Amino acid sequence: MSDVIRLLPDSVANQIAAGEVIQRPASVVKELVENSVDAGATSIQIVLKEAGKNLIQIIDNGCGMSAADARLAFERHSTSKISQASDLFSLHTMGFRGEALASICAVAQVELRTQRADDEMGTVININGSKVERQEPFMYGKGTNFMIKNLFFNVPARRKFLKNNQVELSNILREFERLAIVNHEIEFLLVHNDSTLHHLLPGTLKQRISSLFGHSFDTQLIPVEVSTSIATINGFICKPENARKRNQQQFMFVNGRFMRHPYFHKAIMLAYEQLIPNDQQPNYFLNFTVEPSSIDVNIHPTKTEIKFENEQMVWQILSAAVKETLGKFSVAPSIDFDTEDAPDIPVFTGSSNLVAPKIAVNPSYNPFTASSKSHSVKQSANPSAQNWSQLYDSFLSDKSEREVQQPDNFESKLSSLIDDNQPISPKLVNETDIVRKLMQVNNRYIIQSSNLGLMLIDQNRAHTVILYNRFMSQHQNSIISSQSVLFPEVLHLSAAQNAILESAIDNIQAVGFEMGFLGNNTWSINAVPSAIRNIDSKDVILSVIDSFAHCGDNLSTKIYSDIALTIARKAAIQSGKSLSDDEMNQLVNDLFSLEEPNYTPDGKPVYKVMSVDDIAKMFS
Ligand code: ADP
Ligand code: MG
Repeated sequence: MSDVIRLLPDSVANQIAAGEVIQRPASVVKELVENSVDAGATSIQIVLKEAGKNLIQIIDNGCGMSAADARLAFERHSTSKISQASDLFSLHTMGFRGEALASICAVAQVELRTQRADDEMGTVININGSKVERQEPFMYGKGTNFMIKNLFFNVPARRKFLKNNQVELSNILREFERLAIVNHEIEFLLVHNDSTLHHLLPGTLKQRISSLFGHSFDTQLIPVEVSTSIATINGFICKPENARKRNQQQFMFVNGRFMRHPYFHKAIMLAYEQLIPNDQQPNYFLNFTVEPSSIDVNIHPTKTEIKFENEQMVWQILSAAVKETLGKFSVAPSIDFDTEDAPDIPVFTGSSNLVAPKIAVNPSYNPFTASSKSHSVKQSANPSAQNWSQLYDSFLSDKSEREVQQPDNFESKLSSLIDDNQPISPKLVNETDIVRKLMQVNNRYIIQSSNLGLMLIDQNRAHTVILYNRFMSQHQNSIISSQSVLFPEVLHLSAAQNAILESAIDNIQAVGFEMGFLGNNTWSINAVPSAIRNIDSKDVILSVIDSFAHCGDNLSTKIYSDIALTIARKAAIQSGKSLSDDEMNQLVNDLFSLEEPNYTPDGKPVYKVMSVDDIAKMFS
């Protein structure tokens, strides 16, 4: 019997592969515009007929191609953008697979005209279902002009599978928006069936957003800007009042590439959690810039998911940046303490009222005990669409006063919580602080009643955020606050654990541990952070090692804040621990001395306030 396996002809193989990359007209537009961007174009025109089914023409003023390159460009795996596997880790271009043109020409009739600036002649090529029909010299001028006609003309099943023109056009427009936003410095023209749908001039990101989505965006965008060694994030989020029930414009890009990232999306949602009703979502336009080697864009040509090496860290940076932006630009309390030093407390309002998570910084202020002054619940204080900017003004004027009162009490108060034997320093808790009694529920939540309603604090989260902030402040001030132990603990590790500990040791010591290497994967713990004296230090170190072993990150990138958070989590008072009145008071005072007491570093709410109104509603 003869052998049965044979190689498919290139044209058939290309057609099959094309199904992967080119699914609809929008995919062609994406691939060709990305090529134009990679070619350094400053102006790109897109001309469509019948939602791209009959014609997709992309004209750019980029670098153009030589006649030989123009021919080669249509071969599978032909690319000018990478030459070896390691280039994948330093990608600065949108393309790199060398698949798009080969795929497109396998399923369409293609004409390419192109010329480089320095060449006297350009070239024109016609390819029909992967078959080169003509290539000739052609005077074109600098740039490239692709015409893709009759997409899927030779794959009737695929052509039939295309949706009606409206749907296909809206897919193209969605793709176009992504490309146009991130490439806002490029001029774009989009023409469909002879009518101009977009003509976008080069401009700032903000200008591009408003030319795409309307000038109403001019007033709703607030800038986000944060730069760290791991990631730079910039762009815009919208004011809470501009959140929408549907049709949100939500865009995230990494190194110029559109991405979907449900996990990062969640960080943004959480930051808005108490500011907008449950059924609404904000608009956002955020660019992430990271080391190309720290992301993997290689998942699938048509997929927009992107893997980050430092996902948790980027999450935290994003979460903090969005919260800070909202805090800075945001909004007022729904509860008015009628006092100058009252902080804005996020109120648990179900789905209705909008309230701010911003807290004033007043070291001696305790929201529970402000009752000696006259308080009132102001029903009208909820920010609404109309008064938002007013609230913002008042926040800004408040802010300078608050900053003057910046506390220096980081170094202070926590130890008694942890060390049961240590008395609370009389200086740290002043008498008015304990006017109102705190209650513990289920050894888990601390509850305070006042004429405002009920505040419910998660004790574990509160302590986590206190410890974390304490470690971070130590770090910023280059202080290492540690306490020697009488009998050093000895830690025997596996080789793998030992390697992890070695890579993290500097940062572990910066938090306040002091460790000595005894050889043979064994360490002694000679000192511990003063904030966490009474805990099982071996267990804390092991859990740091554990969390790094499981997160799969590159250990060398493990940074201080990550370790500080792991230790804070581990060392924080756990749910289930019964607390004395003094301990509860200390915890609450420390919590509200923080600038950002509302959320844990990983974005979970630390406390909620149930207003008297809410309680009344429950009884109605
Ligand atoms: P990739 O973009 O992954 O390299 P493509 O198949 O999209 O693969 O393109 C193949 C090559 O053709 C590119 O690497 C580039 O050298 C060249 N090319 C494609 N489009 C253009 C363009 N508009 N201007 C200049 N060169 C282009
Ligand atoms: Mg490409």
